[in-house]
Amino acid sequence: MASQILDTPIEFLKGVGPARADVLRKELGIFTFKELLYHLPFRYVDRSKFYTVSELNSDAAVVQLKGRIVRVSEVGVAKAKRLTAIFEDGTGQIELVWFKGAKWIKDSLRANTEYVVYGKISQFKSTWNIVHPEIETVDKFRLSGSSGLRPVYNTTEKLTSRGLHSTGISKLMEVLLPTLKAQIPETLSTELVSKLKFYSREEALMHIHFPPSLEEAEKARNRLKFDELFFIQLMLIKKKLQQTRNVPAARFAKVGELFNQFYDKHLAFDLTEAQKRVIKEIRSDVNTGYHMNRLLQGDVGSGKTIVALLCALLAIDNGYQVAVMAPTEILAKQHFESFSASLEFLPVTVSLLTGSTKTAARREIHASLMDGSLNILIGTHALIEPKVEFKQLGLAIVDEQHRFGVAQRARLWNKAKMPPHILVMTATPIPRTLAMTLYGDLDLSVIDELPPGRKPILTVHRTDSARLKVFKFIKEEIALGRQIYIVYPLIEESQALDYKDLMDGYESISRSFPLPDYKISIVHGKMKSEDKNHEMQRFISGETQILVATTVIEVGVNVPNASVMIIESAERFGLSQLHQLRGRVGRGADQSYCILMTDEKISKEAKIRVETMCRTNDGFELSEVDLELRGPGDLMGTQQSGELNLAIADLVLDKQILITARHLAMELLERDPSLTAPENSAIRLSLADMMQIRKDWSQIS
Ligand code: ADP
Ligand code: MG
Repeated sequence: MASQILDTPIEFLKGVGPARADVLRKELGIFTFKELLYHLPFRYVDRSKFYTVSELNSDAAVVQLKGRIVRVSEVGVAKAKRLTAIFEDGTGQIELVWFKGAKWIKDSLRANTEYVVYGKISQFKSTWNIVHPEIETVDKFRLSGSSGLRPVYNTTEKLTSRGLHSTGISKLMEVLLPTLKAQIPETLSTELVSKLKFYSREEALMHIHFPPSLEEAEKARNRLKFDELFFIQLMLIKKKLQQTRNVPAARFAKVGELFNQFYDKHLAFDLTEAQKRVIKEIRSDVNTGYHMNRLLQGDVGSGKTIVALLCALLAIDNGYQVAVMAPTEILAKQHFESFSASLEFLPVTVSLLTGSTKTAARREIHASLMDGSLNILIGTHALIEPKVEFKQLGLAIVDEQHRFGVAQRARLWNKAKMPPHILVMTATPIPRTLAMTLYGDLDLSVIDELPPGRKPILTVHRTDSARLKVFKFIKEEIALGRQIYIVYPLIEESQALDYKDLMDGYESISRSFPLPDYKISIVHGKMKSEDKNHEMQRFISGETQILVATTVIEVGVNVPNASVMIIESAERFGLSQLHQLRGRVGRGADQSYCILMTDEKISKEAKIRVETMCRTNDGFELSEVDLELRGPGDLMGTQQSGELNLAIADLVLDKQILITARHLAMELLERDPSLTAPENSAIRLSLADMMQIRKDWSQIS
């Protein structure tokens, strides 16, 4: 049976034995033949080209020569002791030098034998030399692959001391691969392999370890990348189909009185085409009688709230209750206020539940949820406590939940007997590739259009030398009746320093904008929350014209009259944070500005961030750049990247492979949802293996 040989303990491979097996296990987690097989080289060295000694001309070049050893001598004493060998190829001589392992080398070097040497050359007193060259006989060299491409493997010091440097590992592969011939199971269907012109899984693995050419190595690698992404997609899409086709849920069959009344009489503006499209998508989901699991993406200010509200009315019209969950108390409150204001003239009840809701009010909420008199409950995580029970929950709207990956969502919703429809809304655009993997089990709706009449925010980059001009500009804007944000970084590790920066800045601003003409609010993390609220309120009411703050204002502040956002030390912020901060302005009818202040000298990455901010207001474009700069791990937080745990594919570089994999996975599951067709049996088996590995993904309701 194929898998048996793959599961053979590594010490039984010829050339390994107990001692090496021990370091392989400890250093690389390699316990079996299979795990060694999947220890892939991360690059190749081209050993096809030979030089002659007479051609050598540039210091530090890496070269390969063929020739004979003509003299070996030990020179120097004690620490300066070394072994040198004169190597000659017919066009000239060079010196090979060893400081370590001299005795072993001396014993193994043979006269009148042709050798291949490889290493970095340097010149010493008009003689070229190579220190610690790689050296092997021409016969051995010929044995190890004809293409001249040598794989380079990850290794460690402990492994190297057991002879398992990259070449040593490669030697093990030379033993392993022939043993596994015709034993590595195919994971894809014959149809897919031929359609994509792929190597078989076995060929791919063989070629990765010993590629005939770089192109073929790349092709082999793409095959494995495809496999990795394809099976993740199969799993996610399968889950999605199960949820939407097999999980019965509330059916919102009619567009009723409340929805129509609100739409006709109380909507203050026309919906954008994007908003209409998204509502249509949601509406057709919730009308099927099966569970909806949908992600709604839309940039800051794209108008997600009204979409949420209309969906809520749809649920209530059909006799169901609605839960709206936000990540912070501020945001929950803001939603509560905006829902309450919008629904003022309709017979709909709305309550707010957060950690700070008093016991009496809480009791009242619990009662009204149970008897069905409460239509909409808005709140924080407090909503998913077991005590909170609904009479008839039909729709759960989760705002700003982009930090929740597949496994976390599973934990959230697998309590409910009949799961409510779920609408996840996020204002932080997620690059398409990430959305496909992290949210591949969700349907995706995108509001890709801002309400009309918004003037794009003008973003510029300024350094300290332009500070006076910036201050002059602020004064002009204030004279026009506008308000200004000035934001300082706040990074946990350097709070004291940040605080000093903020206070220094505040002092200098106070000097430049003196009373009584100018009034300034200040808000930072060291303040008591009532003082914070008081200062904030003064700015919101227009009593103060300038708000000096740390990033506490990032979420939840809405002051349409504010037209300028100045971000100090902008080089210290990430792209998505800069974008979120910028989103605080541009909410009124006036032209708004974002000024990114930095040092004269900033890192290359910071420069890209700043330039990108100046170039575009498009959150999706920013998120793509962010992904390229930081990689998926940093972008999503460690938990999510751990969840993805890709071994070979890269979400940035292999975007195209991912898109193809997703597309083909969908197509396959459309045709054969349970993968029971005989031609898909290889896929079915591999998927089962994979589910075993990613157990935590299977809990999703
Ligand atoms: P976000 O998507 O960031 O949650 P909001 O829902 O808060 O955005 O909407 C931002 C602002 O745009 C709100 O003041 C809202 O009333 C307004 N708005 C939403 N949709 C439209 C529209 N179609 N036309 C005009 N204004 C709109
Ligand atoms: Mg919002």
